[in-house]
Amino acid sequence: MAPLKAYRDKRDFRRTPEPNRDSSDDLDHPLFVIQEHDASSHHFDFRLEVDGVLKSWAVPKGPSTDPREKRLAIRTEDHPLAYADFEGVIPEGEYGAGTVLVWDLGAYENVTRKDDENDGDIRSMTDALKEGHVLVRLSGKKIRGGYALQKFRSTDNGEHWLLVKMDDDDADARRKPVSTEPQSVISGRTLAEIVHDAQDD
Ligand code: MN
Repeated sequence: MAPLKAYRDKRDFRRTPEPNRDSSDDLDHPLFVIQEHDASSHHFDFRLEVDGVLKSWAVPKGPSTDPREKRLAIRTEDHPLAYADFEGVIPEGEYGAGTVLVWDLGAYENVTRKDDENDGDIRSMTDALKEGHVLVRLSGKKIRGGYALQKFRSTDNGEHWLLVKMDDDDADARRKPVSTEPQSVISGRTLAEIVHDAQDD
C-alpha cells in the first residue's frame, strides 16, 4: 500500500486546507509535533517522523509532564511530513472537521534499546513500532525529555498505546502545559484566534 493512501483516501483536497504534498522544509529532523485538534472530540495528535511520514496517535488528554500519569494514545493513520506545521480550520463535513493548532514542535531522538540495559544497541523506530515499545527524547518548546510509548491492546478500531513521561530531569508533576500553555508555537495564536482568522478569508 502507498505510504499515505489511508491519509489521502479520507480527504477531499479541493475542500480541506490540509497539505497533500509530502515534504517538509526548514524543520529539524527527525521531528515530532503535537497538534491540538478541536474536532467532534477534542484531542491532541502526537506525531513522530519515521521513514518520511508522521506516525500518529490521538491523545485525548494530551501529554503529561508527570511520570505517574499514563495517557491513552490511539494510533491513527500516517500523515505526510508536510502536516507537521499545518494549522487552520478543516471545513465542516470533511474528515477531522475542526480547528488544528501546532501546540508543540521540535526534533526528537530515538532512545529505544534492544535490551533494557542502557548500553544495548538502539532499536530502529520501525522495529520499535512493530514491537509496540518506543522510547524517545523530545526537544520541543513545551515538552522536553524522555517519553515512553507502550502498546497494550489491539482492537478492531485500532491500536491502543500509553504515552508516559520518563522520570528524568524534565519530569515535573506541577506543570500542566496542556491547560496553562494553550498558544501555538508557530503563530502564537489560540484556537479561537485561528477560527477567527479563517473566517476573515
Ligand atoms: Mn486529530
